[in-house]
Amino acid sequence: TAPLSPEGQRLNCSLLRTASGMTSPMDLSVVVPLYNEEESLPQLVDQLLAALRPTGEIFELVLVNDGSTDSTAKVLEQLSIKTPELVGVLLRKNYGQTAAMSAGFDISQGKVIVCLDGDLQNDPADIPLLLEKLNEGYDLVSGWRHQRQDAALQRKLPSKIANRLIGRFSGVKLHDYGCSLKAYRKEILSDMRLYGELHRFLPALAFIEGARITEVKVHHRARQYGSSKYGIDRTFRVLMDLFTVWFMKRFLTRPMYFFGFGGLVAMSGSLLTGMYLLAIKLMGEDIGNRPLLTMAVVLGLTGVQLFCFGLLGELLMRTYHESQGRPIYRIRATLRGGGTS
Ligand code: UDP
Ligand code: MG
Repeated sequence: TAPLSPEGQRLNCSLLRTASGMTSPMDLSVVVPLYNEEESLPQLVDQLLAALRPTGEIFELVLVNDGSTDSTAKVLEQLSIKTPELVGVLLRKNYGQTAAMSAGFDISQGKVIVCLDGDLQNDPADIPLLLEKLNEGYDLVSGWRHQRQDAALQRKLPSKIANRLIGRFSGVKLHDYGCSLKAYRKEILSDMRLYGELHRFLPALAFIEGARITEVKVHHRARQYGSSKYGIDRTFRVLMDLFTVWFMKRFLTRPMYFFGFGGLVAMSGSLLTGMYLLAIKLMGEDIGNRPLLTMAVVLGLTGVQLFCFGLLGELLMRTYHESQGRPIYRIRATLRGGGTS
């Protein structure tokens, strides 16, 4: 059972205030990153419209062409002419799934954002399920492909291991981090800065920011057209990102808590050793060149250095926060229900 959020009661109350204080008439934005999905695209739009029009929600379909080398952009343009709900975003080149999703999130106007893949592996008919769950008072609802239609050895096994690891490191235990079909409250995404492969860790990152997270079982279909854009190098990149997320969660928010503590311990050790040596000296003994003296000096220096590490880390954190204006994608054109802008 979830706590009720102030906004969680109804989605189709269409003039709710957003976090920024603006009134937004848009209930829902569906974001789809597209890289060479020309064959899937028309069916995808059909299925999304079929799933969403009957709900009565005010929605937009934000379809992001991530520099496809096939005719995805052309198909998108044609579809946008006859689909008033469609917002097409054409990126200048292929920036990767995370950047494409970010572009979609940034342009979205909905109070709720649903993201899914453009290859028809996710079923748009599941979207109302996610929205229903979100309305119970959650900030993020993740799909769980309980009968995943992908190769067992190459895809499902690494995912199983990854899900365990991410759950352990991040503190959010989900069965299926890799499922792209997810629903988010806009506020959760608005201050999220994604890069690399970080879209995979959105639940973990949102959790760090205090989001309430849950999952619902969704359908999963085998890829009909085109091919998966990922190979084995993804496993490595995901692993490195996992480490980054873990690091951010543990240390990066307050580096001083980590390094500063180590510094204090080392400096105390140095002080105690020094005091011991001083006491011996005062009792009239010659200290000479004892190992203990060396230890006191080394500990002292280490302590000071660790402490400075912590301070530097804090400075880095500030720079990190302040430098977030840098875009990870660039838009060539935007298509809105009928024309180019
Ligand atoms: N995608 C993208 N940019 C890329 C690679 C993929 O926008 O550089 C999109 C792709 O079109 C699809 C989604 O990201 O909508 C997931 O890609 P894919 O289906 O290849 O991944 P898989 O399902 O094999 O994990
Ligand atoms: Mg896929």
